[in-house]
Amino acid sequence: MSFESYDCANCGESFSAYPDANATDGPYCSPRCEREGEGL
Ligand SMILES: [Zn+2]
Repeated sequence: MSFESYDCANCGESFSAYPDANATDGPYCSPRCEREGEGL
């Protein structure tokens, strides 16, 4: 298993995640950023 580095699409912070776990619309560091990034 290997982590990949991503920049959060909402706050721009770098974070690590499993590539397979990142199958959503964009790389977000947290569920909160995911909601904000989606404009909800
Ligand atoms: Zn974020």
